[in-house]
Order: sequence, then C-alpha cells, then structure tokens
Amino acid sequence: MTLPALASSTRAELEALTVRFGQPAFRAGQLLDWVYKRYELDPDRMLNLPLKLRTELKSGLVCRSTRLERADCAADRTEKLLISLADGEAVEMAVIPAPKRLTFCLSTQAGCPVGCRFCASGAGGLKRNLTAAEIIEQLYHGIGRAGRLPDNIVFMGIGEGLLNFSRLATALDRITEPDYIGMSPRRVTVSTSGYVPGIYQLIELGKPFNLAVSLHAVDDITRAALIPDRLRCPLAEIRRACDDYEREIGRMVTFEYVLLAGINDRPAAAEKLAAWARRHHAKVNLIPYNAAVGGFKRPAEVDILRFRDILKKNGARVTLRLEKGAKIAAACGQLRAWQEKKDDHDSN
Ligand code: SF4
Repeated sequence: MTLPALASSTRAELEALTVRFGQPAFRAGQLLDWVYKRYELDPDRMLNLPLKLRTELKSGLVCRSTRLERADCAADRTEKLLISLADGEAVEMAVIPAPKRLTFCLSTQAGCPVGCRFCASGAGGLKRNLTAAEIIEQLYHGIGRAGRLPDNIVFMGIGEGLLNFSRLATALDRITEPDYIGMSPRRVTVSTSGYVPGIYQLIELGKPFNLAVSLHAVDDITRAALIPDRLRCPLAEIRRACDDYEREIGRMVTFEYVLLAGINDRPAAAEKLAAWARRHHAKVNLIPYNAAVGGFKRPAEVDILRFRDILKKNGARVTLRLEKGAKIAAACGQLRAWQEKKDDHDSN
C-alpha cells in the first residue's frame, strides 16, 4: 500500500488520519498548522502533538519523500539545490535572492519530455513526473535555506509542468489556498514551452497565476529546428491560447526568448517579436544562450543589443542581462531568465 504524503495532504485526509489514530478532530488542525503555516514535516518537532500520535504519523505517512543532497552558491548568492528523490532520481531547484524579493524556482519533472535541442535537461528525455509532494517539498527545502517563505515562486526548473498537470495543480492548490500555505497566485509563475492543451487546463483553474511562454522563434520553421515535433504546438495556436489566458484570467503573459546565434537573432525576427509583444501586451524576456548543447552558440554582444534595441524601438517591453558566466546553470534557460529579471537590468 502506498502511504499518503504529508506535504500534499488535504485537511480532510489529515482529519481522517487523526480519527483513525483515535485522536480528537482538533489534532488535524494542529497538524495542518505545522505543515502549511510553520513549514514543518518532521513529526518529532511537532511538540504540541502527543508522542503517540507523532510516532503513528511516522508510520502512517510519508513525512518527507525528498532529501537535500547539495547546495551550490553563486557569487550573486543564488543557490542551486540538488534534491534527491526516493527512487534515486534527482531534480534541481534554485533560491534566488534579490534586493526586493526572494524567488524560488521549482522543478516539476525528473528530466523533460519536450527535448528542446539547446537544453541539457531535455537531452535524456523524461525520467518521470514528480508527485505533488515532491514539488511542494522543494519549497520546504528552499525555506530551510532562506529561512522564510519566498515572495515569488516560478515553475521554471526542470520539466514541462503543464505535462504533469494534475500534480502541478495539486501543488498550486496547496501553495495558494488560504487553508494551506496561502500565497497569492499573483506571486506564482507557471512556465511552459508552449503546450497549448496545458494552457487551457491552467485557465480552467481560474486563478490569476502568471504565465510565461517560451517562444524562442517567430516562425514555425525556425521553432521546429529548436523543439522536436512531438510536443511542439503551432505558434498560431500558442498565440490564441495567450489571448484566451489574458481574457479569461486577466493576466498578461511573458514571452521567453532564448537568443541563439544565426538562428533567431536577426533584425526581422526582433521586429516580428515586438509586434507580437505589443499585440499581446506581453513582456519579452531575452535570454542570450549561455550553454553548450546541440552546437548552438550565444550571439555576439552587438547582435544581442541590436535585437533588444529593435524590440524597444518598436514599443515592446523587454528585459535582458548581458553578463556571462553565471556559475549556476539553469535547467533550460528559463531559470536564468527569471534570475536576470530580478537583477534590475530592466531596460524599460
Ligand atoms: S527548455 Fe524546458 S521545456 Fe525545453 S527541454 Fe528544457 S526543461 Fe524541457
């Protein structure tokens, strides 16, 4: 029998559990308080619970399903945490401090099925979806490092979260519902490689999450050179879904764009991207490529600046950071993008 996981348990599940252990119903409220308001998953530290219940919880639940293996800190104090899963897989998350806000970047899958050709995380394909508890426990590991709840959470680590939708939705529920952790959905960003069915599932949740869409190209032929066919949606469908997201949810989207030398960095692409950004009221986040996968190269600085300037000249809001050599590599460029946004290099 698979034991339920403490980190994603609902109030009803905890009530049923405490009743099963012969405890009064108010114990479930105490347990909820420990898990979701005090971010504590170790029953031994839940000192207002009777010893007998604490012992029973350890045998009746999976209290922690992940372990912090390693933390690497960059010069800018961003920490990349390596989190191991019970079956030997591992994922990464990042704790990203900035003067005005603390951001955690979480993963949703071990490996990634999308397989973008410039991305190391996608190279080995999908190992498996994370459970909701494995997603939420990353948040707790981050709190353990930073000492507090973050101001923002971005799902821009390893994986395409919208392809693990039900578990992502459970994690979003526990993170944002007032009975549980209770963060504002406006402080949570869901990133996607442009998986349209998932964008519509997110719309059905009806909460004002931020949506970041990785375009990386303004025509389907160029995009096909970057993202394999199987999970790539046509740009026209992605743009329609962005329109629907904005209309139904009332939030603007962000377009993520990894700049690759000789592939998508030409002036004509910048002009088209600017027109789309204006049309969708979207902010563009430019991410000069900074890895070495699939033979792709970072554009020359002059080409990066020209691309940025064309976007600005054509009325797009754009974010770019030029520094190279970040010590902490992102899962797929998206993490770096978020980090860059926080570094006050907004060129508006
Ligand atoms: S860039 Fe993102 S969506 Fe693409 S393979 Fe990497 S992790 Fe997956």
